[in-house]
Amino acid sequence: MPNSYLIQLFLEFCVPMDPDARAIVDGLTDFVDSVVVPLEDAHADVLADPRRAHGPDGAYSPETRALLQTVREAAAEAGYYCMFLTEELGGGGLGPVVLYEVWRALHATYGPGRILPYATVAHWSYAPSSLCTHLTPTAAARMLPEFLVGTTTSCFGMSEPDAGSDAWAMRTAARRDGDEWVVTGTKQWITNSPEADWVLVWAVTDPELQRTRSGGISCFLVPTTAPGFAVDSVITLFGQVGGHEGIISFTDVRVPADALVGELHQGFRLAMEGVSTGRVYNAGRCVGLAQWALDRAAGYATERTAFGTPIAEYQGVSFPLADSATEIYAADAMSRETARRLQAGETAHHEVAMTKVFTTEMCSRVYERAMQVHGGMGLTTEMRLYDGWHQARLARIADGSAEILRRNIARRVLRR
Ligand SMILES: Cc1cc2nc3c(=O)[nH]c(=O)nc-3n(C[C@H](O)[C@H](O)[C@H](O)COP(=O)(O)OP(=O)(O)OC[C@H]3O[C@@H](n4cnc5c(N)ncnc54)[C@H](O)[C@@H]3O)c2cc1C
Repeated sequence: MPNSYLIQLFLEFCVPMDPDARAIVDGLTDFVDSVVVPLEDAHADVLADPRRAHGPDGAYSPETRALLQTVREAAAEAGYYCMFLTEELGGGGLGPVVLYEVWRALHATYGPGRILPYATVAHWSYAPSSLCTHLTPTAAARMLPEFLVGTTTSCFGMSEPDAGSDAWAMRTAARRDGDEWVVTGTKQWITNSPEADWVLVWAVTDPELQRTRSGGISCFLVPTTAPGFAVDSVITLFGQVGGHEGIISFTDVRVPADALVGELHQGFRLAMEGVSTGRVYNAGRCVGLAQWALDRAAGYATERTAFGTPIAEYQGVSFPLADSATEIYAADAMSRETARRLQAGETAHHEVAMTKVFTTEMCSRVYERAMQVHGGMGLTTEMRLYDGWHQARLARIADGSAEILRRNIARRVLRR
């Protein structure tokens, strides 16, 4: 019996998965196995070679982009891509409980170091999300027909070189000029910006309100073909030849008045709505990746022998696995409870923050242990453990760093 089955059984015995989520997860993994994995296998020469998967500028190569688009469009056709979008926009209307389970199951099943399986479900920051419901009707008509079927993608432009954790300090500004808005500034760390067709950009529209942090920031929809828009560079993270994050700039980029997304001066609230979904996504991703790593470590520990016995017989090897199983169980249970609260209509900021801190840091610890259990093999690209460690490490910064979240958690605790 494969270890993954044993671990799944153990986790499900403790915390049963929501039955609706179970059916969707089963359908999605069948879809990935039958449609996406064969495509991945057929193009392994490109996907498994970072120098072919990326172009000379560090962005995805045309071949990789075409494969991602093929997967997105097939998943949209099959009804998976927009399953978390509202029904009035043609989505499946599913909520946080299924969102958590879907991202967890995808990562537990397909593991790190792959990209196509994760293009089957719209990512909260660069694909159809609740932010689409705030578009004006004319902007929606321009953007959504191709966006909802996976042909085009977007990105979420909030962070700046001098405004990361303190996003209120942003300098990108938008001024009204007749029937247009004129956007100027630079955004940094923007995921999917090297490939995106659209940017949701946050800009200062009232410096006085911004100073008091009560408003003054608005969101605009900008096509990346607009004159004055540029991808200045692709950010490469450690160990990578290309990247998915970019530095982008706006030099007097003009957009029509209907490009305003949501209410004027109230864009910050809108951004937080997106980021909250992102934190549930991160919880699913990290619990799933941790389950995948524990599965690999348990398998390796039972097969590998040293001093004439399987290394799993040594407590120095088996106790770290026990610690990982314990932490995964705690992370999974708290994530499911947080998702349940969100589904019930609670804002659950406190619980979402605690869940993001715990699940992302737990995932890093699980990968550290899994790499150690694998000995030298744990450091090879073949085992893909480094890819998982890398993702967990990023997740501790992106979508709210662990310190900023602890700051929020502590404020609530001390307020009593
Ligand atoms: C892989 C990745 C993808 C990202 N994708 C996007 C995206 O798509 N869109 C987007 O807008 N942004 C994105 N970001 C940006 C991300 O939101 C910021 O990196 C994050 O908010 C931290 O900002 P910073 O990097 O400028 O760090 P800084 O704000 O400079 O912080 C540096 C350190 O100081 C700590 N710190 C800061 N203030 C405090 C405080 N008050 N108390 C305690 N500690 C503090 C931080 O936790 C951190 O450890 C992404 C980042 C990464 C790494």
